[in-house]
Amino acid sequence: MSAAIGTGDLDAMLKRLHLPTIRRLYAELTLRAEAEGMSYRDFLEILAAEEIAHRAQTRITRSVRRARFPYLRTIDEFDFTFQTSVRMQMLGTLLGPELVSEGRSAIFSGPPGRGKTHLAVAVAYRAIQNGSEAFFTSADELIGALSHAALTGRLEAALEPYVHPHVLVIDELGYQSYAADAANVLFRVVSIRHLKRRSTIVTTNKPLAALGQVLHDADLAEAILDRLLERGTHYVLRGRSYRTRNHREELTQDAISDAA
Ligand code: ADP
Ligand code: MG
Repeated sequence: MSAAIGTGDLDAMLKRLHLPTIRRLYAELTLRAEAEGMSYRDFLEILAAEEIAHRAQTRITRSVRRARFPYLRTIDEFDFTFQTSVRMQMLGTLLGPELVSEGRSAIFSGPPGRGKTHLAVAVAYRAIQNGSEAFFTSADELIGALSHAALTGRLEAALEPYVHPHVLVIDELGYQSYAADAANVLFRVVSIRHLKRRSTIVTTNKPLAALGQVLHDADLAEAILDRLLERGTHYVLRGRSYRTRNHREELTQDAISDAA
């Protein structure tokens, strides 16, 4: 060691090394280490582990913000006993590292309030926790942005945010009736992602057979579905709406008070 020990400005050095968590914790940990007779190795290990944990959390927070989720929901918050068709085990490959390493895709279909968006967000959030980047968009937003960019000759640049992230969620396909070139721009996104083996998660309230009509192009709709399902799974959500889960009881109450 060349520098004289104990004469440097430790805070400044930790700052220069970009170790803010160690800088924040070392003084307190020094007192604890002295009181407990902690080994030098353990002391250093605790500081290093805290710095790493804090960095991981900072990255997750930043990635979640960049993903632009409409709300943040986890898979643990999903009540699998509520709807009748999808079980936790069926989502296996979507929740592990294979989602990104193998570019697995998924389509969640079903009527409103069945948890399609919740599951898509939860899968993308898990990918962020596993170290990947995700981006959430509605089909409407994606088609609008890309159709507009295509008209003004800027399609290539506009594709970037949709093709780049490891995981892309395209929410609510089929809620709107789309313009004539919707199928084209959607196909561009899906086929580039398919070639790059990137994960795409789509939610739709329409049966897959109806997407040709929604997109005004049966061939392109089929080509889109083929690519999504080649390394992907279609999950149909059935059962009652979670959003209106209490309405039945309310109705019963009303019926009782009406009768009274
Ligand atoms: P949609 O199928 O229309 O996309 P969402 O996924 O947005 O519906 O679900 C609507 C609301 O109900 C959300 O707040 C979501 O978290 C909640 N929800 C839906 N299904 C479940 C479920 N099985 N367990 C817990 N919350 C659910
Ligand atoms: Mg939804």
